[in-house]
Order: sequence, then structure tokens, then C-alpha cells
Amino acid sequence: MPLFRPSWRAIALVAGIIIAVNAALLMSATPGPSRTLPTVTPQPSPAKVVGAVQAQSTMAPEPAPPPTTMPPTPVWTPTPTRPTVIPTPSPRPAGTPWRVGLQVGHWKSSELPEELARLRNSTGAYYGGINEAELNLDIAQRVKPLLEAQGVIVDLLPATVPPSYDADAFIAIHADGSSSARVRGWKVATPWRTSPASQQLRDAMATSYSQATGLPQDLNGITFNMRGYYAFSYRRHTHAIARTTPAIILEMGFMTNASDRAVMFGQADRVAQGIADGAMNYLRARDPLDGAALLPPEFPVLRAIPSGTVLRATPRDDARVLATIDPEQRIIPFRLHDGWYEVVVRGKWRMIGWVRADQVEATSEQLNLPTPTNP
Ligand SMILES: [Zn+2]
Repeated sequence: MPLFRPSWRAIALVAGIIIAVNAALLMSATPGPSRTLPTVTPQPSPAKVVGAVQAQSTMAPEPAPPPTTMPPTPVWTPTPTRPTVIPTPSPRPAGTPWRVGLQVGHWKSSELPEELARLRNSTGAYYGGINEAELNLDIAQRVKPLLEAQGVIVDLLPATVPPSYDADAFIAIHADGSSSARVRGWKVATPWRTSPASQQLRDAMATSYSQATGLPQDLNGITFNMRGYYAFSYRRHTHAIARTTPAIILEMGFMTNASDRAVMFGQADRVAQGIADGAMNYLRARDPLDGAALLPPEFPVLRAIPSGTVLRATPRDDARVLATIDPEQRIIPFRLHDGWYEVVVRGKWRMIGWVRADQVEATSEQLNLPTPTNP
């Protein structure tokens, strides 16, 4: 975050004028010293309220100055055209059944719309005359009745996701391939900008899938390609999940590894059970009134400070240094944790790591994370 020290006398003067004008206009009760930001009322609406809120959610790109620099006099500046509060999605009406999208990776990818035409040829992994889409479809078709037996509405989705797909969970089902027959294991990833709900879905899936299948986890495997899955890219594509749909991509195992194949092909019902358990454990644990958990974070694009910003492997001052970023490069944050941003760096080279929030400056640039892919 930039060290931003404006003249508080000037701000107090401007704020005094604004508050006076507001008081005159609103003729409302005098605000107390602890007045907070205005309440934003979500759109009233029935089942599709989440998608409706998603469309109007915006956020000012500049972060507020750190609270420790605030003077004792509270300052409230209304920003009617650029709300700094994102409306919280409303809970669904009581009795609404859960809805889960099971996306069959690569299925009918030749039918992807124009905006995703570059992925029409992405057929995924293959082994012994079987392609990944066939395996993914077989597993998804086994998961569907398991969830339906629990009262869940299930959408079996092809590669093309319905516009702003709105559901209680979106699970993209994929399998891996490698040039090495020894590489094996499953992995599960959330979108770059992860809501708390997506993280809970990921954690529930990791636990259940591991228990049901007995397959090992591929600890080195979470890639740019998974986090940047095209169906997550609601900012770029129409055919993507809604911003507030909790989402994960699961790579079930390697089609090119004999031990993984023995489970995915020979014991497919265990694989399906693991996915269904993961979804159900997530849904049952989730607080339906906690709409805020559905919101992914939003951050401004950052740049390094003039002396250079250090990119580290973990959010600690003694962590391994991955690189020094210069001000020509752009830093795209997707997570904030204890005063550190987890970021993708773009420019002369591309890398993921952590930077101190007080070692970067906010920009007003609009820059996206790496181009969405279909692993
Ligand atoms: Zn795939």
C-alpha cells in the first residue's frame, strides 16, 4: 500500500464542507463520531439474486490510507458514483434446493463460443485411445445421481459454461497427462481471486477425495493453468461462472500413470463418491446467511517502489527471495494476508510470489491475470 500522507487540514476542511452540505440536503439525524459507510442495499429479488448483484459490483481501485495514519477527527467522504462497499449477496430463500454445476472438462469443446474459440482444440489428456473428456464424462455421470439422491439440483455442463453461471458450487472435473509415466496424483485449485467459500469448497474436496480414492496428492502440480481456468474468468468472458459462485477445478489423477488409472478406470465409483462427498460436506458446512463469504477480493494493479520491490516465496521477511521487481513491471495481486500480497508479476518475466504491501504502489491501470487456459 502506498504511504499516502495528505494534508489533514485540507481534508478536514473539505470534509467539513461535505458533511455540512450533506446535512443540509438530507435533513437527517446528526451523525455521531463513529459514523460508518452508508449501507448498500442489495437488489431485492428471488432465486437469481446472486447473479444480479454480481453485475453491479464495483470497487474503487485505490486502497484507503492505513487506519494508523487517521487523525482523531473522523472523516466521512461520500462517494456516490464509486461505492467502496460491495453489496453482499443475499441468501437464497428458505427451502431453495442446492444447485451444483459439474463441468465435464473438454466435453464438446469444439462447440465453445467465439470468445473462447482459441480453446476449441483443447482436448486435454489421453491414454490408450481414450481421451480425457470421455473419462471426465463417465465420472461426472456417476457423481450426478449421488448428489441428486441428497436433494441437490445438478447441472452436467460441457466446456461451454452458461453466461454468469450461478450455483452453490461449480466443480470442473479434469484428468491429467504427463510425458512421464511416473508422475501421479490429484490436485484441486480455486480461481486466482478466491472467495472464502471457494477455499472451503477446495478444502472439503481435498479431504473427501483423498479419503475416498486413496490416491496421493500431486503437491507440485498447482499451475497457472489451473488457477487461471477459463471458466473462472468472469471479468473477461461471458461464458464463465458468476463472480459469487464458489468454484474449483479438480484434476482427478494422471491418465498416464498405471496406479492412477487403476482407480479412475477400475474403481470409478470411488472417484465419484469422493467428489460427491466433497460437494456435500462443503454444502452442509456452509452458513447460508453468510453472503460475504461468496465475494472474491478485488485489488488495484500495483507497481514496485523506485528502489525495487522484493518478491518472496512466502509472506515472511526471511523467506527465500525469488526476484527483485522493478517499477517497469506490473504486479497483479490476488490475495492479501497479514500485510503481504500474493501476486503474479508481469513484464520481462512472469512469476508468482509475495510482496510486502508497504513495498508497492497502487496504479489505476486495468490489467488482467494471465490469459485463461484449459488444462
Ligand atoms: Zn483437462
